[in-house]
Amino acid sequence: MSKPERTSLELFRRKESLDNLAKKEGRGTELVSLYVPPGKQISEVQAMLRDEYGTASNIKSDTTRKNVQDAITKVQQRLKLFKQAPKNGLVIFSGAIPQNGPGSERMETYVIEPIEPIKIYLYRCDAKFHLEYLQEQLREKEVYGIVLMDANSASFAILKSKNLEIVQQITSGVPGKHRAGGQSAQRFERQREAKLLEYFNRVGKYVNDIFLPVPNLKGIILGGPGPTKYDFQKGDYIQYSLKDRIIAILDTAYVDEQGVDEIMERAPEILRKVRYIEEKKIVQDFLYHVGHDTGLAIYGEEEVRRTLQMGIVRTLLLSEGVDIVRVTIKCTACGYTKQETMKERALPSFQQDLVKQCPKCNTQSLTLAEAKDIVEELAEIAEPTNTDVEMISTETEEGQMLKNSFGGIAAILRFKPSH
Ligand SMILES: [Zn+2]
Repeated sequence: MSKPERTSLELFRRKESLDNLAKKEGRGTELVSLYVPPGKQISEVQAMLRDEYGTASNIKSDTTRKNVQDAITKVQQRLKLFKQAPKNGLVIFSGAIPQNGPGSERMETYVIEPIEPIKIYLYRCDAKFHLEYLQEQLREKEVYGIVLMDANSASFAILKSKNLEIVQQITSGVPGKHRAGGQSAQRFERQREAKLLEYFNRVGKYVNDIFLPVPNLKGIILGGPGPTKYDFQKGDYIQYSLKDRIIAILDTAYVDEQGVDEIMERAPEILRKVRYIEEKKIVQDFLYHVGHDTGLAIYGEEEVRRTLQMGIVRTLLLSEGVDIVRVTIKCTACGYTKQETMKERALPSFQQDLVKQCPKCNTQSLTLAEAKDIVEELAEIAEPTNTDVEMISTETEEGQMLKNSFGGIAAILRFKPSH
């Protein structure tokens, strides 16, 4: 099976960085958000920013005026590094963020390349960064095919993010169930069967032609009133790789635009369920190895890190409910380092109580060099070794079990390590 371009890990990372940005708040209305869609002339954006800089000189509060103008300047500087907008466009956030209460503001600037093309051109100065358009991209990022059919007609649509496109609509040419007078019943039935077969083959060809070339096709939803869709699904009318991706068969009242609307209304729920099913399977696979004592199931941070470093992990399972960090303490004098794992919420008091004396060189030079999310730390070890990294929500029973019984960190190995 082909791997989707966006892994659960990549999405998790982007979500984390947006969550982090969402927490940032300015003192006043002084945080700048800029969205530049692909194809937009950078020179035009720079001209707009010069105007905004000029307008900002009317701001009465000295601090706010300075902060807004500084933010605009930072954005201009970052923008200068681009000759043209990247293929998905460009988003820049900049502003003075209080680090530790009022008066501790520091300029922070972030450049983000969206995971999908952005459509809007937007400049905003606000108390918060405008993240909603990037957050939207995370929601339903994959592509789904929709096929609606009954014995009379069929529609084919592609659902990407929130955009829906009806690609094709065809009619069946299959006569109704009631024959005209004078026709033999048997002959009519034979003709109808033949027409229906021809129609199913035609629908199958459209499905192959439309959906096979679609990158990141996550699944196909089949709908329509009555039993026709099931008859179609049971037969061999579409390529096996696509048939495998039918993720839901639903009853809808219509096979046209209205039918597509019916699917759309239920789409979020369908898609969530699809991911939950995947997650359940992954955890069940892990539990199988635990239950059958195959030696391939590993859990707990230490064991998982060790096997990851050996490069023998096939699938790394990380619970979204895990909130621990890997801390690196470093001596700035002699280079001595030490790593420790702790709950995220324990970090501030750890930092406060940190003994500065280095056990190696005895100078007062120990500092907290890094605090990394454990998910990120383990994922980084996993990535070069071709390991599947799966983020598992706590929305399923299996996901809860992963978090509560196995500490939220587990792995399935490719083979048993030779001790
Ligand atoms: Zn030292």
